[in-house]
Amino acid sequence: MNIVERARADLKLVGECWPALQELLDPQAWAPRQPSFLTAEQRAELDYQARIEQWERIDVAPGAHRDAARAEFIDLTAAIRAEAYEVADTIAWALIRPPWLPHTRPRQSIDHHLEFAHRHFGQVTDLLVSEWVVARARDMAAQCGRALALAYDGQTLKTVCPWCKGGLAGTPSLRVRILPHGDIAVICESDIPCEPPSRKTGTWWKGRPAWAFQDWTWLAKELHRDDDRKRKTG
Ligand SMILES: [Zn+2]
Repeated sequence: MNIVERARADLKLVGECWPALQELLDPQAWAPRQPSFLTAEQRAELDYQARIEQWERIDVAPGAHRDAARAEFIDLTAAIRAEAYEVADTIAWALIRPPWLPHTRPRQSIDHHLEFAHRHFGQVTDLLVSEWVVARARDMAAQCGRALALAYDGQTLKTVCPWCKGGLAGTPSLRVRILPHGDIAVICESDIPCEPPSRKTGTWWKGRPAWAFQDWTWLAKELHRDDDRKRKTG
Protein backbone atom coordinates (compact mmCIF):
# COMPACT_ATOMS: atom_id res chain seq x y z
CA MET A 1 0.00 0.00 0.00
CA ASN A 2 1.55 3.35 -0.98
CA ILE A 3 1.17 6.47 1.14
CA VAL A 4 -1.78 7.83 -0.86
CA GLU A 5 -3.68 4.57 -0.45
CA ARG A 6 -2.71 4.44 3.24
CA ALA A 7 -4.04 7.97 3.82
CA ARG A 8 -7.22 7.14 1.91
CA ALA A 9 -7.71 4.01 4.02
CA ASP A 10 -7.27 6.13 7.17
CA LEU A 11 -9.81 8.70 5.96
CA LYS A 12 -12.27 5.93 5.16
CA LEU A 13 -11.73 4.44 8.60
CA VAL A 14 -12.52 7.78 10.27
CA GLY A 15 -15.77 7.93 8.29
CA GLU A 16 -16.67 4.42 9.40
CA CYS A 17 -15.92 5.15 13.06
CA TRP A 18 -17.84 8.40 13.08
CA PRO A 19 -21.32 6.93 13.69
CA ALA A 20 -19.98 4.91 16.63
CA LEU A 21 -18.33 8.04 18.09
CA GLN A 22 -21.59 9.94 17.71
CA GLU A 23 -23.38 7.20 19.61
CA LEU A 24 -20.84 7.49 22.43
CA LEU A 25 -21.63 11.19 22.83
CA ASP A 26 -24.84 10.05 24.42
CA PRO A 27 -24.25 9.12 28.10
CA GLN A 28 -27.03 6.55 27.77
CA ALA A 29 -24.87 4.69 25.29
CA TRP A 30 -22.19 4.05 27.90
CA ALA A 31 -21.29 1.17 28.15
CA PRO A 32 -21.98 0.60 24.50
CA ARG A 33 -25.08 -1.35 23.67
CA GLN A 34 -23.43 -2.90 20.65
CA PRO A 35 -20.62 -5.09 21.95
CA SER A 36 -19.29 -5.66 18.46
CA PHE A 37 -18.00 -2.40 17.05
CA LEU A 38 -16.90 -4.43 14.06
CA THR A 39 -20.37 -4.36 12.56
CA ALA A 40 -20.35 -0.54 12.58
CA GLU A 41 -19.69 -0.46 8.87
CA GLN A 42 -22.77 -2.47 8.02
CA ARG A 43 -24.85 -0.58 10.59
CA ALA A 44 -23.62 2.72 9.23
CA GLU A 45 -24.75 1.83 5.75
CA LEU A 46 -28.24 0.99 6.94
CA ASP A 47 -28.59 4.03 9.16
CA TYR A 48 -26.81 6.44 6.87
CA GLN A 49 -29.66 8.76 6.02
CA ALA A 50 -31.03 8.85 9.55
CA ARG A 51 -27.61 9.73 10.90
CA ILE A 52 -27.00 12.53 8.40
CA GLU A 53 -30.23 14.05 9.58
CA GLN A 54 -29.18 13.67 13.20
CA TRP A 55 -25.75 15.28 12.64
CA GLU A 56 -27.33 18.20 10.85
CA ARG A 57 -29.64 18.74 13.77
CA ILE A 58 -26.61 18.82 16.07
CA ASP A 59 -24.93 21.27 13.68
CA VAL A 60 -27.92 23.60 13.74
CA ALA A 61 -28.39 23.60 17.48
CA PRO A 62 -25.07 22.80 19.13
CA GLY A 63 -26.30 23.92 22.55
CA ALA A 64 -29.19 21.54 22.62
CA HIS A 65 -27.18 18.43 23.38
CA ARG A 66 -24.17 19.84 25.20
CA ASP A 67 -25.24 19.26 28.76
CA ALA A 68 -26.45 15.79 28.00
CA ALA A 69 -23.30 14.66 26.20
CA ARG A 70 -20.07 13.23 27.53
CA ALA A 71 -17.46 15.97 27.73
CA GLU A 72 -14.52 13.85 26.57
CA PHE A 73 -16.37 12.86 23.43
CA ILE A 74 -17.50 16.39 22.67
CA ASP A 75 -13.85 17.48 22.69
CA LEU A 76 -12.73 14.53 20.69
CA THR A 77 -15.40 14.60 18.01
CA ALA A 78 -14.98 18.38 17.69
CA ALA A 79 -11.22 17.89 17.21
CA ILE A 80 -11.73 15.19 14.59
CA ARG A 81 -14.37 17.24 12.80
CA ALA A 82 -12.07 20.30 12.73
CA GLU A 83 -9.18 18.20 11.50
CA ALA A 84 -11.28 16.70 8.70
CA TYR A 85 -12.23 20.19 7.56
CA GLU A 86 -8.61 21.36 7.68
CA VAL A 87 -7.48 18.39 5.60
CA ALA A 88 -10.19 18.95 2.95
CA ASP A 89 -9.52 22.66 2.87
CA THR A 90 -5.76 22.21 2.53
CA ILE A 91 -6.26 19.78 -0.37
CA ALA A 92 -8.64 22.23 -2.06
CA TRP A 93 -6.09 25.00 -1.53
CA ALA A 94 -3.27 22.85 -2.94
CA LEU A 95 -5.35 22.26 -6.08
CA ILE A 96 -5.90 26.03 -6.36
CA ARG A 97 -9.65 25.43 -6.19
CA PRO A 98 -10.57 24.95 -9.82
CA PRO A 99 -14.11 26.28 -10.34
CA TRP A 100 -15.65 22.82 -10.73
CA LEU A 101 -14.35 21.77 -7.34
CA PRO A 102 -17.04 22.01 -4.69
CA HIS A 103 -16.09 24.34 -1.87
CA THR A 104 -15.50 23.07 1.60
CA ARG A 105 -16.94 24.97 4.53
CA PRO A 106 -16.39 24.38 8.23
CA ARG A 107 -20.06 23.68 8.94
CA GLN A 108 -20.48 20.98 6.34
CA SER A 109 -20.80 17.44 7.62
CA ILE A 110 -17.61 15.53 8.32
CA ASP A 111 -18.66 13.06 5.61
CA HIS A 112 -18.38 15.82 3.05
CA HIS A 113 -14.84 16.70 4.17
CA LEU A 114 -13.68 13.10 4.32
CA GLU A 115 -15.19 12.26 0.97
CA PHE A 116 -13.69 15.36 -0.61
CA ALA A 117 -10.24 14.56 0.79
CA HIS A 118 -10.52 10.92 -0.25
CA ARG A 119 -11.51 11.82 -3.80
CA HIS A 120 -9.02 14.62 -4.49
CA PHE A 121 -5.96 13.66 -2.48
CA GLY A 122 -4.51 11.70 -5.40
CA GLN A 123 -4.27 14.91 -7.48
CA VAL A 124 -2.09 16.75 -4.98
CA THR A 125 1.42 17.08 -6.39
CA ASP A 126 2.97 19.19 -3.62
CA LEU A 127 5.04 16.77 -1.58
CA LEU A 128 4.88 18.83 1.62
CA VAL A 129 1.09 18.98 1.46
CA SER A 130 0.91 15.25 0.71
CA GLU A 131 3.06 14.38 3.68
CA TRP A 132 1.03 16.67 5.92
CA VAL A 133 -2.25 15.05 4.81
CA VAL A 134 -0.85 11.55 5.35
CA ALA A 135 0.18 12.49 8.90
CA ARG A 136 -3.19 14.15 9.66
CA ALA A 137 -5.16 11.18 8.34
CA ARG A 138 -3.07 8.85 10.46
CA ASP A 139 -3.61 11.04 13.50
CA MET A 140 -7.38 11.24 12.99
CA ALA A 141 -7.60 7.45 12.64
CA ALA A 142 -5.52 7.05 15.82
CA GLN A 143 -7.79 9.46 17.72
CA CYS A 144 -10.83 7.45 16.64
CA GLY A 145 -9.07 4.30 17.72
CA ARG A 146 -8.23 5.65 21.16
CA ALA A 147 -11.76 6.91 21.69
CA LEU A 148 -13.35 3.64 20.69
CA ALA A 149 -10.80 1.65 22.68
CA LEU A 150 -11.81 3.66 25.76
CA ALA A 151 -15.27 2.33 25.27
CA TYR A 152 -14.52 -1.13 24.01
CA ASP A 153 -11.41 -2.34 25.88
CA GLY A 154 -11.89 -5.90 27.02
CA GLN A 155 -15.00 -6.48 24.97
CA THR A 156 -15.42 -9.82 23.31
CA LEU A 157 -16.62 -9.85 19.74
CA LYS A 158 -19.70 -11.95 19.17
CA THR A 159 -18.20 -13.89 16.29
CA VAL A 160 -16.27 -17.11 16.87
CA CYS A 161 -12.70 -16.86 15.56
CA PRO A 162 -12.75 -18.50 12.11
CA TRP A 163 -9.21 -19.83 12.48
CA CYS A 164 -9.20 -21.63 15.83
CA LYS A 165 -13.02 -21.97 16.02
CA GLY A 166 -12.89 -20.58 19.54
CA GLY A 167 -10.48 -23.23 20.82
CA LEU A 168 -11.50 -26.18 22.97
CA ALA A 169 -14.41 -24.29 24.48
CA GLY A 170 -15.63 -23.17 21.04
CA THR A 171 -16.62 -19.78 22.44
CA PRO A 172 -15.88 -16.28 21.12
CA SER A 173 -12.24 -15.50 21.84
CA LEU A 174 -11.58 -12.31 19.87
CA ARG A 175 -11.16 -9.43 22.30
CA VAL A 176 -10.46 -5.69 21.98
CA ARG A 177 -7.32 -4.78 23.97
CA ILE A 178 -5.37 -1.60 24.63
CA LEU A 179 -1.69 -2.48 24.27
CA PRO A 180 1.26 -0.60 25.79
CA HIS A 181 1.90 2.72 24.00
CA GLY A 182 -1.86 3.11 23.54
CA ASP A 183 -2.09 0.95 20.42
CA ILE A 184 -5.29 -1.01 20.21
CA ALA A 185 -5.89 -4.35 18.64
CA VAL A 186 -8.27 -7.25 18.39
CA ILE A 187 -6.51 -10.30 19.83
CA CYS A 188 -7.55 -13.92 19.70
CA GLU A 189 -7.34 -15.12 23.32
CA SER A 190 -8.24 -18.69 22.55
CA ASP A 191 -7.27 -21.55 24.91
CA ILE A 192 -5.41 -23.29 22.06
CA PRO A 193 -2.71 -21.80 19.81
CA CYS A 194 -4.53 -19.82 17.12
CA GLU A 195 -2.62 -19.77 13.86
CA PRO A 196 -4.30 -18.00 10.97
CA PRO A 197 -2.45 -18.20 7.63
CA SER A 198 0.21 -15.46 7.49
CA ARG A 199 -1.65 -13.41 4.87
CA LYS A 200 -4.63 -13.25 7.28
CA THR A 201 -2.59 -12.28 10.34
CA GLY A 202 -2.09 -8.60 11.07
CA THR A 203 0.66 -9.07 13.62
CA TRP A 204 1.45 -11.08 16.75
CA TRP A 205 1.13 -10.08 20.37
CA LYS A 206 2.68 -12.39 22.99
CA GLY A 207 2.30 -15.34 20.67
CA ARG A 208 -1.30 -14.56 19.81
CA PRO A 209 -2.58 -13.24 16.48
CA ALA A 210 -3.52 -9.56 16.67
CA TRP A 211 -5.16 -7.15 14.27
CA ALA A 212 -4.39 -3.46 14.69
CA PHE A 213 -7.13 -0.89 14.61
CA GLN A 214 -6.36 0.02 10.98
CA ASP A 215 -7.14 -3.57 9.96
CA TRP A 216 -10.51 -3.78 11.67
CA THR A 217 -12.58 -3.00 8.61
CA TRP A 218 -10.78 -5.76 6.76
CA LEU A 219 -11.19 -8.09 9.75
CA ALA A 220 -14.90 -7.30 10.00
CA LYS A 221 -15.37 -8.29 6.36
CA GLU A 222 -13.36 -11.44 6.91
CA LEU A 223 -15.48 -12.45 9.94
CA HIS A 224 -18.66 -11.50 8.15
CA ARG A 225 -17.69 -13.65 5.16
CA ASP A 226 -17.02 -16.59 7.46
CA ASP A 227 -20.45 -16.13 9.08
CA ASP A 228 -22.04 -16.16 5.63
CA ARG A 229 -20.19 -19.32 4.69
CA LYS A 230 -21.36 -21.02 7.86
CA ARG A 231 -24.96 -20.02 7.21
CA LYS A 232 -24.81 -21.37 3.66
CA THR A 233 -23.15 -24.68 4.56
CA GLY A 234 -24.68 -25.05 8.01
ZN1 LIG B 1 -8.42 -17.71 17.03
